[in-house]
Amino acid sequence: MSNELQDRVAVITGAASGIGEASAHRLAQEGARVIVADIDVDGAERVAAEIGRQGGLAVPFSMDVSSYEDNARLVQEALDRFGRIDIAYANAGIAQASTNLEDMSEDVIDRLISINLRGVVSLARAVARPFKSQRRGVFVTTASTAAMRPRPGLQVYSATKGALIAFVRALALEWAPYGVRACAVSPVATDTPMLPLFKAAAGKVMDDPKEILESFRQTVPLGVLAQPEDIAQAVCFLVSDRARLMTGTILDVDGGRNI
Ligand code: NAD
Repeated sequence: MSNELQDRVAVITGAASGIGEASAHRLAQEGARVIVADIDVDGAERVAAEIGRQGGLAVPFSMDVSSYEDNARLVQEALDRFGRIDIAYANAGIAQASTNLEDMSEDVIDRLISINLRGVVSLARAVARPFKSQRRGVFVTTASTAAMRPRPGLQVYSATKGALIAFVRALALEWAPYGVRACAVSPVATDTPMLPLFKAAAGKVMDDPKEILESFRQTVPLGVLAQPEDIAQAVCFLVSDRARLMTGTILDVDGGRNI
């Protein structure tokens, strides 16, 4: 434990698993009080309890990021419980199983957009007033190398992530006069439960999770499959005062994949 984020209040969506879970642990280790938000309430309770056992302070929160109302409830929960909100990390997202566009159902397209894009816009909208009136706050979201280095069959997922990059850059300007920052972390293929669900790397569709992970790893110049903790380190930096001059920044954690 150190104290870089001592007493800061953070909300993290998708915090019951993978990158969000690792980030909840990392921020709590730095002294932040964390609201662990997820649609998987059992997972959120597990993560919050683990953080508590390790001496941190975290509370679980059940929500669906595609709901405007739930994002507003999440921000209100932080304000009611802790009297402030310093960090909002809109991280929840879902994968697209590799599919040609014409074979995608309308429901699947709409679900990707409503969770991966509307969910992020919705949290930013909910936190805008408190951040601006406090004249303090950092918003971070999880984009992806899929935005700049798309793969065949993942076009709608890639589009949602590309939109997040434009969104964060626009928000950065909108919020700069208030001293509020907006950034994104942009991970390469990361070893989480989501990764095998893409079912394809380098255009080849596969079913064996081990084969899928290995194919992703081979497309990374450094030859390493990122771990959730690698991404959490970058998030922790972006939300800290060490990054006070960074806004509109898209921080690649990609082993060289975006080159
Ligand atoms: P993950 O599946 O391990 O975790 C995602 C979490 O989001 C889960 O706990 C899930 O329950 C939650 N979630 C899903 N839909 C939700 C909803 N509607 N409301 C609330 N919570 C919801 O996946 P991950 O790899 O940790 O993904 C986190 C983010 O990172 C996503 O935005 C993903 O697109 C992005 N990302 C992942 C990778 C990768 O290779 N794993 C690479 C780049 C970007």
